Amino acid sequence: MKLVVQVRLLPTPKQAAALEATLRACNDAANFASVTAFTTGDRREYALRKHTYREVKARGLGAQAAQHVIKKVADAYTTLKAGIRAGNLGPQGCARRIRAESKPIAFRADAAQPFDDRCLSWDHTAATVSIWSTTGWLKNVAFIGSPGQLQTLAVCRKGESDLVCRDGMWFLYATCEIPDVPVTAPDGFVGVDLGIANIATTSDGARHCGKGLNAVRHRNRELRRRLQAKATTSAKRLLKKRRREARFAADTNHTIAKRIVAEAERTGRGIALEDLGGIRDRVRLRKPQRVTLHSWSFHQLGSFIAYKAARHGVAVIRVDPAYTSQTCSACGHVDKANRTDQATFSCTSCGFAEHADVNAARNIASRGVAGWAVSHAADDAA
Ligand SMILES: [Zn+2]
Repeated sequence: MKLVVQVRLLPTPKQAAALEATLRACNDAANFASVTAFTTGDRREYALRKHTYREVKARGLGAQAAQHVIKKVADAYTTLKAGIRAGNLGPQGCARRIRAESKPIAFRADAAQPFDDRCLSWDHTAATVSIWSTTGWLKNVAFIGSPGQLQTLAVCRKGESDLVCRDGMWFLYATCEIPDVPVTAPDGFVGVDLGIANIATTSDGARHCGKGLNAVRHRNRELRRRLQAKATTSAKRLLKKRRREARFAADTNHTIAKRIVAEAERTGRGIALEDLGGIRDRVRLRKPQRVTLHSWSFHQLGSFIAYKAARHGVAVIRVDPAYTSQTCSACGHVDKANRTDQATFSCTSCGFAEHADVNAARNIASRGVAGWAVSHAADDAA
């Protein structure tokens, strides 16, 4: 499956000026090639390259950019021809169609330009790209996107990306190829409880407590937005530090996700995750600000797990986490008093005692089993 992932670039003003000049140069060259294609009638890439390559390259475009410009022009004529054939521009002789056929295709100064791996390189952990420009390589141009998209991008990006300027904002549209892995019918579920002291606790009793991650979580809120607006030396230095921290946090989450998915796969089980919308309602996160401080990290871990699971055909189900921390995983008794302190669960009804996070994870696991049975009842009936 192919899909396009969009990320927003956050170039410095100087980098933005270089990108703008690059797009303009590429599209000026495209207009030159388009006129040539129109006047000579050679609209196929190979023929057009013979007529225009030398000139396009001489305009300050490297070999790669020149080839992309010529291909872009050839593709535009192919698309136009297909559109005319499909009747998109009306029947033969109609004004719109005559207008389209009577002059060369024109490219706006900011029209999209494709970049391949020789003129664009991605650093996913740092969330930056290095991109070729007419004034040289622009290094470490920061980019942002949703955690899920960034994850897809990091794993599945393949081929070209289009550089686009929209409303003064810069974007890369990257092509990704997602492999399809059939989901194995799960024999039970590993429940995962997300928390602060222990980042992830499984119903098997494995506690993942990424050391030092909490400090990073606390600092990361909104900082990119604040920092990237400025380009002062101190802001840059701070940004560099934050990127390092974010990279560390992502690495930790990747490691935890990998272990959990590997364990589920090894034992033929699915993974039950808390529905993250529910984090808000969690009893033990008493202070509301904690939710926002940590939610990006919860989301990141959740999306890493979901993504890695999908890649391995491991089933993932999201369950409602309400009262999982107050409910006894042995007898089902729900009572606030079951939770004696932060770390200890002790059932006031049956006496069952367990680490609080492990108890919660066991509840999440059994909700996963129940949820899966409900959502797949139709499959069994069939
Ligand atoms: Zn009990």
